[in-house]
Amino acid sequence: MFRIGFGYDVHRLTEGRPLVLGGVTIPYPMGLLGHSDADVMIHAVMDGILGALGKGDIGQHFPDTDPKYKDMESLVMLKTVMVWMKQEGFRINNLDCTIVAEKPKLAPHIPVMKQKLSIILEVEKDQVNIKATTTEGLGFCGRGEGMAAYAVVSIVDIKTDYSS
Ligand code: MG
Repeated sequence: MFRIGFGYDVHRLTEGRPLVLGGVTIPYPMGLLGHSDADVMIHAVMDGILGALGKGDIGQHFPDTDPKYKDMESLVMLKTVMVWMKQEGFRINNLDCTIVAEKPKLAPHIPVMKQKLSIILEVEKDQVNIKATTTEGLGFCGRGEGMAAYAVVSIVDIKTDYSS
């Protein structure tokens, strides 16, 4: 059994918040606004996995009205989603994601994000791909009002032998 999931998320940029992307705190005068640490990329990844599992979305499982998730590290929530995925008998096959941000330059931080994600997703680093793009100054991302992230994830049944 082979499944694909898609995730998309947006968060507003604001002053007085740390910028956390892909589990990495990036030096920048602004950060993403949200109930948790607002890691837009990890939220897209979580929605991708939940999508592949047919299990709704993160808003359902981690409601922003629940004080338990206030300022919570999104990587911790991702670990929870991984537990659910494994309980259903799946493993990650690969992840591809894109962060949409006008600033700052994310390329220097991507290797650390990949490292962190590959450990949590229990895959090799080459099974995790992280891209960053601007929108050439267009739209809310281009104006620096917020950031967006897209993720596509494929998962496979642990019991299936794909070697033949
Ligand atoms: Mg979110």
